[in-house]
Amino acid sequence: MKYIGAHVSASGGVENAPLNAQEIGANAFALFTKNQRQWIASPLTKKSIDLFKERCELFGFKPHQILPHDSYLINLGHPEEEGLSKSRAAFLDEIQRCEQLGLDRLNFHPGSHLNKISIDDCLLRISESINITLDKTQGVTAVIENTAGQGTNLGFTFEQIAQIIDKVEDKSRVGVCIDTCHSFAAGYDLSTKDSFNQAFDHFNKIIGFEYLRGMHLNDAKKGLNSRVDRHDSIGAGLLGEETFKVLMKDSRFDNIPLILETPNVDLWKDEIIQLREWEKE
Ligand SMILES: [Zn+2]
Ligand SMILES: [Zn+2]
Repeated sequence: MKYIGAHVSASGGVENAPLNAQEIGANAFALFTKNQRQWIASPLTKKSIDLFKERCELFGFKPHQILPHDSYLINLGHPEEEGLSKSRAAFLDEIQRCEQLGLDRLNFHPGSHLNKISIDDCLLRISESINITLDKTQGVTAVIENTAGQGTNLGFTFEQIAQIIDKVEDKSRVGVCIDTCHSFAAGYDLSTKDSFNQAFDHFNKIIGFEYLRGMHLNDAKKGLNSRVDRHDSIGAGLLGEETFKVLMKDSRFDNIPLILETPNVDLWKDEIIQLREWEKE
């Protein structure tokens, strides 16, 4: 079974996300549980939490169909003490929000070395940040997203992600989300059936499909290995339809949230319909 949706708006409260997902015909969704561009957020109210759960139940969204995303400000590999502790505190808050909402995973961008520490040091800091947070929480898996490798962002190779996972103590609560656009920008050619399978065979060897907890389905505006993160609508970019046709027929992507972060919100409904057709073809 494929769970397909989009990163929908939670404006007005997290309880609006399942409504917005249902409206576009999704059976999966992503959301921010707080304003993604601010450090501090007011706690979730009981009313919001109850309504969120009620609506998820009503529309049939189970935790494994929902992929919350953390704030863009958080850098779990921050080279400086102040930025690191601020990020760790905010990440803990994000995981606790997921706990409150009954969600079982949180998607995050691993971190950036900001040219101040080595790649290895930064990756180790990220693992330590995950360990510290998992120790204080329960039931939520930390889901590392692969990046396009823009600027000093790490996690753009499967090897870097494997290195982070290697130092995480509780392997049962760490996972991975693969973004198709980021993969392409980082040099993994997913644009043909053969190259797609080659990339994911490599993924399986280096990380392993048992860690896959979600996918971001985005076409790419910038070229292979461009290291630039610009999403395009499905079929409109340099990946093209083939990537998503292959993916929809591959059972290794069953039973996890497949989330559109494509730029044209008005197309989401049609993109979901199209993806479902390719699944059936
Ligand atoms: Zn993404
Ligand atoms: Zn992106």
